[in-house]
Amino acid sequence: MSEPMRYQLTDDELPTTWYNLVADLPEPPPPALHPGTLEPAGPEDFAPLFPMDLIMQEVTQDRFVEIPGEVLDVYRLWRATPLHRARRLEAALETPARIYYKYEGTSPAGSHKPNTAVPQAYYNAKAGVRKLTTETGAGQWGTALSFACQMFGLECEVWQVRASYDQKPYRRAMMQAFGATVHPSPSDVTEYGRSLLAADPNNPGSLGIAISEAVEVAAQDPEVRYALGSVLNHVLMHQTVIGEEALLQMAKAGDTPDLIIGCTGGGSNFAGLTFPFLREKLAGNISPTIRAVEPAACPSLTRGVYAYDFGDTAGMTPLMKMHTLGHDFIPDPIHAGGLRYHGMSPLISHIHELGLIEAESVNQTDCFAAGVRFARTEGIVPAPEPTHALAATIAEALACRESGEEKVILTALCGHGMLDMAAYDKYFEGAMVDYEYPSEQVAEALSRIPQVPA
Ligand SMILES: *Cc1c(COP(=O)(O)O)cnc(C)c1O
Repeated sequence: MSEPMRYQLTDDELPTTWYNLVADLPEPPPPALHPGTLEPAGPEDFAPLFPMDLIMQEVTQDRFVEIPGEVLDVYRLWRATPLHRARRLEAALETPARIYYKYEGTSPAGSHKPNTAVPQAYYNAKAGVRKLTTETGAGQWGTALSFACQMFGLECEVWQVRASYDQKPYRRAMMQAFGATVHPSPSDVTEYGRSLLAADPNNPGSLGIAISEAVEVAAQDPEVRYALGSVLNHVLMHQTVIGEEALLQMAKAGDTPDLIIGCTGGGSNFAGLTFPFLREKLAGNISPTIRAVEPAACPSLTRGVYAYDFGDTAGMTPLMKMHTLGHDFIPDPIHAGGLRYHGMSPLISHIHELGLIEAESVNQTDCFAAGVRFARTEGIVPAPEPTHALAATIAEALACRESGEEKVILTALCGHGMLDMAAYDKYFEGAMVDYEYPSEQVAEALSRIPQVPA
């Protein structure tokens, strides 16, 4: 009998609740603030943007929140996702470490993003909303929300960062296949976009600018709401289906992780895999080290300041206390578009401050080297974002080869790279560059974050 490489769950074993880490923390995370009054933002401050069910999930203290049957029915199109043991990678690395990866690339969008897009579309449809607006950087979130809107009969309008819109026509086509309208951002359909284009018709855009455009349109029309693909508490909570499944699958494999590694852009796939394990750690049942990996060119968690800042570039959102590089910092054009965000989720930032997780940053050429190594052993071409987690995983496994330690490593393979092959092309041509940490631009952007008295 050969050794198992994949651990599946039956439909009956699918999680039926999301997990809210806030319920188990020794201190609650600092509240979001109204940008005008600097008082804690109340539900009514979010009401122009989000339906009440999601606002309540954003602030709930409940440990578990039931997943609605309508959402489970859509999840079942691709969940549970498989947990793999990376035996061929282990053999190639000649490591005594045991490497597991939870693979989210089997979803309709090719990443973890539909885990939250589906419930967000569901709660909006339930509240009578007609259309959702959003931004997309790499194109993964826009694809996920387009698909989810289609499941619940909503219209979907997406602002895709101009650089990505031009470089990734197939992501745009995929959003259109799922029924969405897609604009390059900055666009001429919003006031903010027009003001930026007047100053520079070739503005390449950024995630923060695209958020400002999508928020502007949603705030003006009572039948339109906005959806965010990462950062917020309710988004992180929806993603915990990943970790709840992985807990059951690791039990089937008969192993307990010593180290859990995930990449962080806004923090949602990392939270999704790790929070249920962190619950078990806080309860004293297991004791894994939990590590976030981010790009050296956009290192909010390892090099940012922990302060109140805006979530978008124009300064329209409530203020959130988070690790930030400054809301108008525009990161270098690394290929992991999903990790090019100036801030980190407030909840991830908070637990980093509490010492519950650690963080490191890596350069993109090391990441692509890891991605290629993974593709040639495990047969999956990873998205550029999770190659950050893979680079850290491989470095750990090689350290185990030296020390002889049989460490159990669990990593989040949050998406496939089938629509990111232009980035791999650059790597194979030898044309991919690493960017130095942009200390001057960050210092400048940090001088413009809002001043909030302690
Ligand atoms: C969006 C995205 C990310 C970054 O977002 P998180 O909220 O940090 O998960 C990472 N990987 C993939 C594949 C993505 O689509």
